Amino acid sequence: MDQTSSMIDPFGRAITYLRVSVTDRCDFRCVYCMAEDMTFLPKKDLLSLEELERLCAVFIEKGVRKLRLTGGEPLVRKNIMHLIRQLSRHLDTGALEEVTLTTNGSQLERFAAELADCGVRRVNISLDTLDPEKFRAITRWGIFDRVMRGINAAQEAGLHIKLNTVALKGFNDAEIPHMLRWAHDRGMDMTVIETMPMGEIDADRTDQYLPLSELRAQLERQFTLTDIPYKTGGPARYVEVAETGGRLGFITPLTHNFCESCNRVRVTCTGTLYMCLGQDDAADLRAPMRASEGNELLSRAIDEAIGRKPKGHDFVIDRSTKRPAVSRHMSVTGG
Ligand code: SAM
Ligand code: SF4
Repeated sequence: MDQTSSMIDPFGRAITYLRVSVTDRCDFRCVYCMAEDMTFLPKKDLLSLEELERLCAVFIEKGVRKLRLTGGEPLVRKNIMHLIRQLSRHLDTGALEEVTLTTNGSQLERFAAELADCGVRRVNISLDTLDPEKFRAITRWGIFDRVMRGINAAQEAGLHIKLNTVALKGFNDAEIPHMLRWAHDRGMDMTVIETMPMGEIDADRTDQYLPLSELRAQLERQFTLTDIPYKTGGPARYVEVAETGGRLGFITPLTHNFCESCNRVRVTCTGTLYMCLGQDDAADLRAPMRASEGNELLSRAIDEAIGRKPKGHDFVIDRSTKRPAVSRHMSVTGG
């Protein structure tokens, strides 16, 4: 763990990783993430690109070494490449180790080359199926071929890709072995994610929930999985797949807490800082940022918030009420 951060939480964890949700909007409506008729934030509540840049710069000064842009869909934010270009200057100075993004891939055909030119070396692409019709069903609005062209463009630009696949019972569990072979054949890593109970959606989450322990047991009938200590600074635990030679990650917030090594915080496109993905406590950074031209107030607000970072979370999908454990949608904090 990088201990050079000046942001150390009450449990001794250095905060070196910031996820920034640059928009809550999206060109897809994945069924586990959003309701079809989502109400988005009024544009006036959003931080401008300049404010997002200023916020990131303060976090970098305070010790953040890795920055991940997410959303909503980060690449649908207007002029997003301007922000990425500005942030890449911190890569040039060596203050930042990495700028990455999590994307649904829909805009990558257009942006992949420019992202690579800005020093982005890897992207996470969310993909839950390789079947175009199922893709349409799960994303509601997504166009499968466009995402495939995006993946091709990203690989041509030299970006390393990790596929993120949400494991959904009865939807893609039978297909995951095929997806794994496909991803590894193409030199991509893959991570499977348990569904998390965040935000009201139209579907019943207890029907979708597939514990990854079950998925792993299922995969082990076809593949030889060996636990490896590989770490990307994220919460995934990795295995090596002997048959493909590739890596597979498991993100299991429900069956296995990963909080003890948590080095991250999240900020939304309105400047709200969440210290934990699984809890509602938050700090407003927009007001202190807008209150003065200097960054002292902002910096103090960040320190106070880090001082309240909780030890961990305890997600449950509540079978009696079927209500989400956390009321905000994943598209607010971006995972
Ligand atoms: N739009 C981008 C994308 O889909 O990659 C970035 C934002 S999206 C909210 C980030 C990740 O969260 C995606 O991989 C998505 O599959 C995942 N996600 C969304 N809702 C989720 C939920 N309820 N449980 C688990 N993962 C979820
Ligand atoms: Fe959009 Fe990503 Fe949520 Fe799907 S998971 S609706 S692509 S924000």
